[in-house]
Amino acid sequence: MADTSISIRNISPYSFLSAGIVLVFLVPINIAMDTKMLLLERFFPGGGWVEIAGLTVYAILLSRAFLKTDSISKVRSRYWRLFSFVFFLQLLLGISVSSIFLMTGKLHLPVPALIIGGSIYRNEVSIMLFIFSGTLVLTGPGWCSHLCYFGAMDDFFSKRKKGSVTDRPISYVWKYLAIALTVAAAFLLRAFGTGSGIPLWIAAGFGVFGIAVSVFLSRNRGQMVHCTAYCPIGGVTTLLGKLYPFRFRIDRTTCTDCGRCGKSCRYGALSKAHITSGTAGWNCTLCGDCISVCNEGAIAMKPLFSKRDVWPVYAALIIGLHAVFLGLARI
Ligand code: SF4
Ligand code: SF4
Ligand code: SF4
Repeated sequence: MADTSISIRNISPYSFLSAGIVLVFLVPINIAMDTKMLLLERFFPGGGWVEIAGLTVYAILLSRAFLKTDSISKVRSRYWRLFSFVFFLQLLLGISVSSIFLMTGKLHLPVPALIIGGSIYRNEVSIMLFIFSGTLVLTGPGWCSHLCYFGAMDDFFSKRKKGSVTDRPISYVWKYLAIALTVAAAFLLRAFGTGSGIPLWIAAGFGVFGIAVSVFLSRNRGQMVHCTAYCPIGGVTTLLGKLYPFRFRIDRTTCTDCGRCGKSCRYGALSKAHITSGTAGWNCTLCGDCISVCNEGAIAMKPLFSKRDVWPVYAALIIGLHAVFLGLARI
C-alpha cells in the first residue's frame, strides 16, 4: 500500500522551499508592520501566527500534490480559483460587512490594467505596482497563470470550451496595442480628467468589457483571449518575462509532433511552428499545463544555457507565493 502519511522525512526539499517562502515573507510582515496585514491578527492577538502556521502547512501539502499530479492544469486551476474566490469574497465582505476585510480600508477597482494605468494617472508607485514588479522578478510571467486575482476567471471560461481546442497562436499585436492605449489614456486623463468621475467610469467599463471578452471570446475559442490580447498587464508580463532566465523547451529528439501540448496551451504559445522550433512562443506564461500532457516527457522548463529541468523549483516557488498571496492579497 502506498505511504500517504505526512512526516518530516517524506516532505520533499521542494515543499520545504514553498514553506520557506511563506515564512520568509509573512514572519517579518507580522512582526514589523504597524498595520495588521494578516486577517486573523485583526480578530484576535496572535491570530497572525496561527494563520502563518496554517498557510505553511497548506503550502507544504499543495506543493507536494502539485509536483505529483498527472494534471498540472487541473490542480493549477483549482488553487488559482481558490485565491480569486478568497480575494473577491474579502472585497464583498469589506464592502458589505466590515472594512476589517480590506487592506487599508480604502477601496480601489479590482481591474489589473489599473496596476499600470492607475499608477501613471496618480503619478505614484502604488502598492500593487510594487507587488507586481516583485512578482515579475521572482516568477517572470507567472503572475498571469498562477497569481492574478482576475485571470482565474479567464482560465475558467477558456476551459469551458467543448470539443477540440485550437493551437492557433494569438497575435501579439493586440496586447502591445492594449499597453499603448492604457498608457496613453492614463496620461491623457491625468492631464485633462482629474477630479471628474470619468477615469473611474472608464476603468469600470474596461473591467466589465473584459469580463465579456472572457465569457464570449475565451469560451468560444478555448484560449485565454482576455489575458493574451485584451489585458495590458498580460502584455507587460510576457514582454518583461523574456528577461526571466527560465523557458519552456521541447526536446526535438523525443518529440513525436503529436500536437497534444498545443491543444492544451490556453495561451496559444504552442503552435506547430513553436513545437518545431523547440521553444514555447512569447505568449507563454510558464503555467506548466503542457508538461503533463506530453506522453514522451519531451517538455521541460530549462534555464538559458542549461539542460537541467527546473520546473520543480519553479513550481515550489509559485506555490509558496500563492500561499503568501492568500494571506495578504486583498483590496
Ligand atoms: S493578463 Fe491581466 S487579467 Fe490576465 S492574469 Fe494577467 S494581469 Fe490578470
Ligand atoms: S505533446 Fe510532447 S510529443 Fe507531442 S508535440 Fe508536444 S512535445 Fe511533442
Ligand atoms: S507553452 Fe506550456 S507552460 Fe507555456 S503557456 Fe503554454 S501550456 Fe503553459
